[in-house]
Amino acid sequence: MVDSRYPKLLLKPGRERSLLKGHPWVFSGALANCVTPPAPGSIVRIVSAAGEALAVGFYHPLNSIAFRSLSRDPDTIVDAGFFRQRISRARHLREKVVSGQTDAYRVINAEGDGLPGLVVDRYGRYLVVSVATAGMERFQRDVLKILKKEFQPIAIFERSEGRARNTDGLADRVGPAMGRMPPPTVEIRENGLVFDVDIVSGQKTGFFLDQRVNRELVGALSGGARVLNCFSYSGGFSVYAGCGGALEVTSVDVSSAAARLAEVNWRKNSLPEDAQLVVTADVFDYLRQTEGQYDLIILDPPAFARNARDVAAAAAGYKEINRQGIKKLKKGGLLFTFSCSSFIDEMLFEKIVLAASRDAGKDARLLKTLGAGPDHPVDLGHPEGRYLKGLMLSFGD
Ligand code: SAH
Repeated sequence: MVDSRYPKLLLKPGRERSLLKGHPWVFSGALANCVTPPAPGSIVRIVSAAGEALAVGFYHPLNSIAFRSLSRDPDTIVDAGFFRQRISRARHLREKVVSGQTDAYRVINAEGDGLPGLVVDRYGRYLVVSVATAGMERFQRDVLKILKKEFQPIAIFERSEGRARNTDGLADRVGPAMGRMPPPTVEIRENGLVFDVDIVSGQKTGFFLDQRVNRELVGALSGGARVLNCFSYSGGFSVYAGCGGALEVTSVDVSSAAARLAEVNWRKNSLPEDAQLVVTADVFDYLRQTEGQYDLIILDPPAFARNARDVAAAAAGYKEINRQGIKKLKKGGLLFTFSCSSFIDEMLFEKIVLAASRDAGKDARLLKTLGAGPDHPVDLGHPEGRYLKGLMLSFGD
């Protein structure tokens, strides 16, 4: 028992419950006052009011998520060896769950791999790393060394940016972390299809890797269909639909950079030029105006709710696109509708889509619930990690 290695973080009486049930976070309100709080990003040992050590993890005095668990064994030593073991475990999992036809996938998914604050994506021989918390920031150099050894990439590009970092008092850091600057686009293979990915300045880390399994499903169901792909980004769902035999695909995104990539990726997969219509427009306007009727519609918007206060406005946005989308479906058509906001849970999303279908005068039938693929493992005790949710639906009158 190594009792003195990490400072103790004391819980208020009864506030160990959520941690014991399996949640990996402790919110600041559950902590007893301490005279000198440990520094941001310190490793601490969390202890119940009765004195029982429960876990070790990262602490931040100014973040409402005050504690992020690294291990439920309170005697764990968190050093380079600890990270090596977690990263190696994550790599082995991917070897099991990602097919040999795919060389772009999430290598490390934060809490889902027992590594809060760390996301790593693989794009062929490149890795993109993103460090989001002050705790993980302290191990950034160790993590880079381990990634280099485990994956032997030709370069690691860092995209440590965004709101979570700012909350933890960290400035953004974007640039080559190992090796040379990557080229403007990196070619990847996903289920045997090819895509150009802009890992330096594309959205997220360049590609929406979390949708791979759902793109596959859409591809398999697109034979002979007229497909409308809303929020199409670089054309992921569109290319799968085209390769799956869609008669015609319309890709709609507000970004003209996305439109260019959607065209490039369509061509790269040898699909007929005139079978994709790429529209640069706001989906809300497009759905209101188009007269088209489709066999299959995909709605994959960005996160409309970025915090708890946004939920009501976000719900109205999701409802509107779903209502409009449902109206554009032909009889017997399929809708693939998604939300990637962790503030909208599965139940609420289903309620929103149900309300949209009622407003459109249709009965919605749930064919399948959808989520991210197995390269995005989620800690079962951490519902916030299940940010991507989707529904595959058909409609009766
Ligand atoms: N389905 C895509 C990912 C979609 S990400 C894939 O599998 O790769 C969300 C996309 O929505 C982004 O490309 C963004 O440019 C676009 N977007 C955001 N707001 C929009 C709006 N109001 N209308 C159209 N596109 C929008």
